[in-house]
Amino acid sequence: MNASNAVAHPEWCHIKECRVRPDGSGEHWSRPVKLETAGRISLSIRMLQDGRRVGAKANSPARTHVYLDYFVPAIGDVPEEDYVLPLDVESAAALGNALLAASKEAGR
Ligand SMILES: [Zn+2]
Repeated sequence: MNASNAVAHPEWCHIKECRVRPDGSGEHWSRPVKLETAGRISLSIRMLQDGRRVGAKANSPARTHVYLDYFVPAIGDVPEEDYVLPLDVESAAALGNALLAASKEAGR
């Protein structure tokens, strides 16, 4: 088996976005999921996981993150800006739950 055959990709990894090298270093990336928004702010979500080096210990879990990318258009004198919010999985879930709760509360 050569090194490239040893790379295992998460189910959600998108081959065109993946940056894992044949030795297993680099990052797996999902395809960005763009959220439909009614406003001028654009949002997208993508997942990242550290590549596993060939021969890595099985008990050293790969780290997975959720990235929230958002674009804010120019407002007054403030120029437009792209932002990236990298979140660990637990923080992403907490943010999602908090947004859902806030949106339900605001909709009352
Ligand atoms: Zn991958």
